[in-house]
Amino acid sequence: MRYTTLAEAFEKLEHTPSYLEKNSLIVDLLKRTPAEEMERVVLFLLGRPWPAYVSKETGVGLQQLKKAIVQASGYSPPDVDKLMKQVGDLGEVAEQLSAKKKQVTLFTEQLTVKKVFENIKQLPEITGEGSVDRKIASIAELLTSSTPLEAKFVVRTVIGDLRIGVAEGRLRDAIASAFNVRPEVVEYAYMLTTDYSIVAKAVATGGEKGLEKLGVIVGHPVNPMLAQRAETIDEVLERMKGKAAFEIKLDGIRVQVHKDGDKVSLFTRRMEDYTNMFPDLVDPLRQALKPKRAIVDGELVAIDKRTGKPMPFQEVLKRRRKYEIKQTIEQIPVELHLFDVLVSNDSVMLDDSYVERRKMLEKIVKPVKGKVMVVEQQVLSKPDEIKKFMNWAIEIGHEGLLAKDLEASYRAGRREFVWLKLKPMLETLDLVVVGGLYGKGKRAGFFGSYVLAARDEKSGKFKTVTKCGSGYTDEDLKELTKMFEKIQLKKPHEDVDIEIDCDAYFEPKIVFEMVYEEIQKSPELKHTSTFGLRFPRYIRIREDRRAEEANTIKDIEDMYERQQKRKAKV
Ligand code: AMP
Repeated sequence: MRYTTLAEAFEKLEHTPSYLEKNSLIVDLLKRTPAEEMERVVLFLLGRPWPAYVSKETGVGLQQLKKAIVQASGYSPPDVDKLMKQVGDLGEVAEQLSAKKKQVTLFTEQLTVKKVFENIKQLPEITGEGSVDRKIASIAELLTSSTPLEAKFVVRTVIGDLRIGVAEGRLRDAIASAFNVRPEVVEYAYMLTTDYSIVAKAVATGGEKGLEKLGVIVGHPVNPMLAQRAETIDEVLERMKGKAAFEIKLDGIRVQVHKDGDKVSLFTRRMEDYTNMFPDLVDPLRQALKPKRAIVDGELVAIDKRTGKPMPFQEVLKRRRKYEIKQTIEQIPVELHLFDVLVSNDSVMLDDSYVERRKMLEKIVKPVKGKVMVVEQQVLSKPDEIKKFMNWAIEIGHEGLLAKDLEASYRAGRREFVWLKLKPMLETLDLVVVGGLYGKGKRAGFFGSYVLAARDEKSGKFKTVTKCGSGYTDEDLKELTKMFEKIQLKKPHEDVDIEIDCDAYFEPKIVFEMVYEEIQKSPELKHTSTFGLRFPRYIRIREDRRAEEANTIKDIEDMYERQQKRKAKV
């Protein structure tokens, strides 16, 4: 397949704002893609020649890319810089200079998808002496054979900023329409593999049956199963037919461990590879997990060295760093509490019941003191005993309990009523930041309040729910302003429905956890969700949540109804 087919499709996608039209462009491209090219085309659509969970970088900066453009076009570095100042996008610079190449090449090959893919995929692997020059040469080789449009997208792919507006979520629908399969089957295959390129290949070669055959792969993160919230112990017992397993709910980072022989990898809930940040866990995990190959699920918590008690969630987050890892291992030791098993050697256990999985987990984990253990659990049916267990869990510093249906399978990526959170705290909302307003007085120069939104699943738009100026410390305001100024837009993002005038608008991607006193219907301020919050207060950034995982309008509707019922009881 020629790369120009892809470049032409990207060009159209870039200039098509409408969701539906974008979708049909992707469908059209997938239909025209031969099965053997499918994985490459899908990965390229998402911007990288490797899936998102692989934390690789090309290691090529703007300066090196400029050199590659100079080599391929025959223009001088000042020419490139001058044009870059004018257009602000190195992709466009490459396009324009390629159109009027000074270097006349007598013999150029037509670029294929495979060639571009292989050259870019190789970049992180080029290391050692002279690696910078070899990387530049590899890109220049592509640019020499590129048409102007191809040059634009080669450069943007190397930078990692394709700007065609294709997020992972879109691929589910596009793959389903292109191959005439049900979107839920596509989605589930993705939940198991976290890689749309594998999903698309399976469907292109085997249809829906091919998809159903896809299973989890050790080394590829699986979308974790999530929990719903329960209001009371009675509700838990009612939903779980009188009896359930109760586990301590720890407040840390969700971690999925993959062991394949000697290789141990840790993935977060957002399917990021965190192995390098927690080298202190790798050896203990090798010892603790008896099978050769396994996938287990757990929560990573930070432990206070003085008291031995768990520290707040914010402390664990401090371990998520790329530098000075050694010092932080000392300051913030972590423990991994395992609560589930998905794979143990040749047994894939997702369809087994909770009881069977727990039995297996206890069998295959040999606890390593202070590092790896199995979560405390009790199977209970009496409200008094559950209450006692919950009070104990809270007393020793945990959040509450998680109730688990004894019969339930492991439902990758699903949030169902078979895992229920029991927390005594006020219910919070996870909302997406879509706008900011500068503060006055002491807060001048900083965003003093933010406008937050929930996603409307029907339209796919983020609709505003509240404007919030409280709960931030002075430090928070400073840090948040710094962060948001980097991603600000002049007008509302195309996915956001907002009627409040803001000083800046943001791409809907940062999630705040918020507390409030009450959900209101038709509040004073004009919110496009038609809901509002009374006394909203900021708690923290939910760094572990993507915008698609924040609360939806439907959640707020449900919470509002529950609130009205509770009020009626008082
Ligand atoms: P939430 O993030 O409030 O939806 O709560 C669900 C999260 O609680 C999971 O994603 C885990 O990170 C965490 N968690 C803590 N303890 C457990 C447990 N025993 N079982 C399952 N999840 C747990």
